[in-house]
Amino acid sequence: MTDTVQVVVIGGGQAGLAAGYHLRRQGLDFVILDADPAPGGSWQHMWDSLHLFSPAEHSSLPGRLMPTQPGETYPGAGHVVDYLADYEKRYDLPVQHGTRVEAVRRDGDWLLVEADVGAWRAWAVISATGSWSRPFLPAVPGRSSFTGRQLHTVNYRSPADFAGQRVVVVGGGNSGAQIAADLALNGQVDVTWVTQRPPRFLPDDIDGRALFDVATARRRALDAGRSDTGGVASLGDIVAVPPLRAARDGGLLHPKPMFAQLTADGVRWADGSHAAADAVIWCTGFRPVLSHLAPLNLRGPRGHIATDGTRALGEPRLHLLGYGDWTGPASATLIGVGRTARDGVREIAGLLT
Ligand code: FAD
Repeated sequence: MTDTVQVVVIGGGQAGLAAGYHLRRQGLDFVILDADPAPGGSWQHMWDSLHLFSPAEHSSLPGRLMPTQPGETYPGAGHVVDYLADYEKRYDLPVQHGTRVEAVRRDGDWLLVEADVGAWRAWAVISATGSWSRPFLPAVPGRSSFTGRQLHTVNYRSPADFAGQRVVVVGGGNSGAQIAADLALNGQVDVTWVTQRPPRFLPDDIDGRALFDVATARRRALDAGRSDTGGVASLGDIVAVPPLRAARDGGLLHPKPMFAQLTADGVRWADGSHAAADAVIWCTGFRPVLSHLAPLNLRGPRGHIATDGTRALGEPRLHLLGYGDWTGPASATLIGVGRTARDGVREIAGLLT
C-alpha cells in the first residue's frame, strides 16, 4: 500500500526533527521516517564519555531550549538523546521509527519514497540522514595485514574495552582528539595519537557558540561576493573541551605524524620506526548517507549533490538538510540546523501553495 502525504522527511535525528517543527508550523501534512528504532539520531550511538562542545542553551533546536544538565556545563550525549526524545513528543512529530528508506524515485508529479515497510508518495522530500552510518576509512598500505582490532569512531564506547592494551588513534579532528584524551586519561591504556598534520586546537575560550557565528559570517561573505574568510577551519580543528584540556595540560597527549603503513602487529613510519599496537581506532570522518537518492541520478563527479541552499539543483522537490556547510552554515550542528530547516521548509511551502 502507498500512503500519500505532502512531505516525507527521511531521517529523524536533530535535522529531521527541526524540519518537522517547521513543517508543523507551516501546517503541512508530513511523515518522518527514521531507520533507528528509538529517538535520538546518532547521539544514541556515541561513546560513553562524549560531551557537547557547547553549553545546553547554545545547543538547541527551534522552539525549545535544551535544559541544562545538572552539574555539567557541556551536556553529555545521553542528555541530548533525552532532549530529542522529548522534542519529538512535545511537538507531536509523526516520526515512524524502525523504517529504513531504500529508494526515492520520480513518479510523474510525485516523488515515490520506498522503505522496507511500505511506500509513500509525496510532493516534496527532505533528506536528513546524516553521516553516522557511513564511516570513512582511508586507504592505507597494509591495512588488511594488521592482526589486531580495527575500529572506527562509530564503534568506540569506552576506555574499559582497551585496558592494558596499546592503542593507536588516527585523526586530528574532534573525534580523534577526544578519543585519544579519553583513553589517555583512563591511565590503563598505552595511547599513540597520530594525525595527518599537527593538531590545531582552537583557543580555549572558543566553543561551539563561536563556531556557529563564524560559519554564518563566512556564508554571508561568500553570498555577498566578498573573499572567503576561511570559516571555522581558519581558527583550528579541535574544540578544547574540558577533558581534552586536562589531557593536553597534563602532558598526556603526544601527537605523532601519520604512519606510512600498518604491519601485522602495529604501525610503521616512513623513517622505519615502529609502534606495536593491539588496536587501531580510525577517527577519520564520515561521508553523507545518500545512497537512497541514487535513482534520482543527482550525484556529481565527486559524489556530492549540487544544491542551492537546501534545494537540490537537479530536483527542486528534494531538499538536503543537516549534512554540513554545503547544505547551510553550521547545518550539521544542533544550533545551526534550525535556520536552514526553516528556510528549506519555507521554500517547500511556497512550492506547494
Ligand atoms: P543523525 O543524528 O545521524 O540522524 C540521522 C537519522 O537518519 C538517524 O536517526 C538514522 O537512523 C536516520 N537514517 C539514516 N539513513 C536512513 C534511511 N535510509 N532511512 C531512514 N532513516 C535513515 N554538533 C553540535 O552541535 N555540538 C556538538 O558538540 C557536536 N559534537 C559531535 C561529536 C561527534 C563525535 C560527532 C560525530 C558529531 C558532533 N556534532 C556536534 C555534529 C552533529 O550535531 C551530529 O553529527 C548530528 O548528529 C547530525 O544530525 P543529523 O540529524 O543530521 O544526523
